[in-house]
Amino acid sequence: MASGLPSVMGGGPAAIGDLVAGPAPTFSFEFFPPKTPEGERQLWQAIRELEPLRPSFVSITYGAGGTTRDTTVAVTERVATETTLLPMAHLTAVNHSVAELRNVIGQLAGAGIRNFLLVRGDPPGDPMGEWVQHPQGVLYAEELVRLVRESGDFSVGVAAFPYKHPRSADIESDTANFVRKCRAGADFAITQMFFDADDYLRLRDRVAAAGCETPIVAGVMPVTAMGTIARSQQLSGAPFPPALAERFDRIADDPQAVRRLGIDLASEMCERLLDEGVPGIHFITLNRSTATREVWQQLGVGARV
Ligand code: FAD
Repeated sequence: MASGLPSVMGGGPAAIGDLVAGPAPTFSFEFFPPKTPEGERQLWQAIRELEPLRPSFVSITYGAGGTTRDTTVAVTERVATETTLLPMAHLTAVNHSVAELRNVIGQLAGAGIRNFLLVRGDPPGDPMGEWVQHPQGVLYAEELVRLVRESGDFSVGVAAFPYKHPRSADIESDTANFVRKCRAGADFAITQMFFDADDYLRLRDRVAAAGCETPIVAGVMPVTAMGTIARSQQLSGAPFPPALAERFDRIADDPQAVRRLGIDLASEMCERLLDEGVPGIHFITLNRSTATREVWQQLGVGARV
């Protein structure tokens, strides 16, 4: 069974790479570290409401520019010690020397964290601004993968981009760099959000055609308001599919209808992905539980794992 309580076999938490490679799809949730006491309350409410669903794992992002280092570490540690959930810490290379990166890895390892999602990160401010390597830091996520691999017995995930990374010149170089990053020691990847299953399937096919078998988990964010569409374009650097945008535009003045359509479309897309054998679905929750629970229910996840 891929879902459920973290395994304690072998004396430690489960390796997410093993769960993703297992026979059943994983179902997991992404949270971000809060910046205010109200945000903190909302995060923990979402965590407590989602915990009974027994996801395979949950992940905690790392703020732009390394700004949330302490909060990411604190939330990840608290999830590990105060809940039944299996946490994965995101880690980025922005503004960090290798010594600082080792320090964060060590802190998390000390709290029993064994799972990392390693991404390069975007520059603070404008995500498409110039990426300046820390003088004693690393340049690409690939090097972060090597660093964590050298540091101990960790399970490592990386990012994948169905529409190519916005900085990549073309799909070919994007695929080649992704495969290189996987070969540096990634056990699995999670995609940037996307809204058309075919975009995921094309990514999977081109990676497979390049001879890479790293399993790619689908990152899913249901549209719950018209604002989500603009936000998704900003986060993913890719246009929202025009045919879907039109359907939302037609009901834009009815927030309930927008929400219903968003949940239905996300559920339909997940159904298709599961039929296509996706190794896992990672829900971007934005620290709220309702939309994720609704998609979860429509999919009948309890009966699938
Ligand atoms: P890389 O793999 O280093 O790639 C960056 C660019 O460089 C790409 O264009 C790639 O093709 C190119 N490239 C890679 N290697 C080479 C090479 N050897 N030579 C030449 N070019 C190369 N951001 C955060 O700040 N915090 C988070 O917690 C976070 N979590 C994320 C989770 C997921 C699932 C995803 C999909 C993204 C996440 N991001 C997060 C965003 C991510 O940090 C940015 O998208 C970042 O710009 C790219 O990170 P990467 O790890 O893919 O970079």
